[in-house]
Amino acid sequence: MVSRPPIRFSDRVTAMQESPTLAVLNRATALVAKGVDIVDFGPGEPDFGTPLAVAEAGKRAIDRGFTKYTNASGTKALREAIAARYNRRYGTSLALEHVIAGNGGKQELFNVSLALVRPGDEVIIPSPYWVSFPDQVEFAGGKAVFAPANPEDHFRPTLVDIEAVATERTRGVILNSPCNPTGAVIREDELQKIVDWCVAREAFLVFDETYELFVYDDNKHASAAIWFERHPETVIVVNSMSKTFAMTGWRLGYAIAHPEIITALGKIQSHSTSNPSTIAQHAALEALAGVDEDVKRMYDAYRERRAWLVPALNSLPNICCTDPDGAFYAFPDVSAAYGNAGITGSQSFADYLLDEARVAVVPGAAFGADGFVRISYATSMERIQEGIKRIERALKKLG
Ligand code: PLP
Repeated sequence: MVSRPPIRFSDRVTAMQESPTLAVLNRATALVAKGVDIVDFGPGEPDFGTPLAVAEAGKRAIDRGFTKYTNASGTKALREAIAARYNRRYGTSLALEHVIAGNGGKQELFNVSLALVRPGDEVIIPSPYWVSFPDQVEFAGGKAVFAPANPEDHFRPTLVDIEAVATERTRGVILNSPCNPTGAVIREDELQKIVDWCVAREAFLVFDETYELFVYDDNKHASAAIWFERHPETVIVVNSMSKTFAMTGWRLGYAIAHPEIITALGKIQSHSTSNPSTIAQHAALEALAGVDEDVKRMYDAYRERRAWLVPALNSLPNICCTDPDGAFYAFPDVSAAYGNAGITGSQSFADYLLDEARVAVVPGAAFGADGFVRISYATSMERIQEGIKRIERALKKLG
């Protein structure tokens, strides 16, 4: 047998974690493939199809031959339409040079880390956090520093939490509001304080508002875009077509930033993916032109499901779920329900639910919050009700 040398990987990829949200979900998918009926509370994407008008615009783009490369940072028309949307919604006066479109918000977030983080820089991320933030920062050579948020205050990030973990190496803060996985929506006055703090320390503030429109009850979405013009060197806003317009598979997101940062992001993009799909850009233009009724239909469904789900979770023995302000996730504390079945954390709790209840949830450990699980309500009310029934039966067995 020929002996082969081991494959030599780079340090940066060796240090990277594989997305931990996937482990339970992969097991769930394997069970579904075997014909097992699983209630899947895993999805991080809308259960709705892309609005018809948007999908038609994509098809028209193909028919009309819009199948070539565009500018690596997105078409002029799309970047201007994104700027116009912010100008309408948030009273900004953005123009083309403040906007870059890419292959999802994820790409822009990744590129922001690559563009701004130097080796040894610390970037503060409130926890629980979206899974990709720490790996993106660390891939860029930085260190992710977590600022735990308080579940009793609905996990809303505060300046006090951030200040508590800041050091002289703090170079930036990444906020996500509404938050995946907790739904937390940051208060406007708190955001203002964090913006001012970042300005004073010459730290950047990345504000990811991917779930911008999904905010419930009396909660109000505050966008960092409001402070962009006053502090363009500080504030970077990232947003996505994925959740708002049910366009996850189209891969279209964008960043709003200082023109010099936009140029840097464009440089990275020009050497990696080039432009986001030309077809998706045409579809996105249609979405931005207004599909309000479709968006409202999705919003109403999420709101109704949340209104049923959260009290149902709280009625389960030893489960405690704070009201999620927004997004389409509930994030209950399940640590009091472990019982004596050998469950030691959110991972084994999720395994137990999958084996015993045939329900898939994402362990909170994936988001830096062991003791919790993420339940997505981007699934039908019937499945939500069925899932809760199953969880209730499985919890009773734990005693
Ligand atoms: N930010 C958050 C908080 C998310 O949950 C996601 C997707 O799950 C993204 C960004 C990236 O979305 P996309 O790359 O589909 O635009």
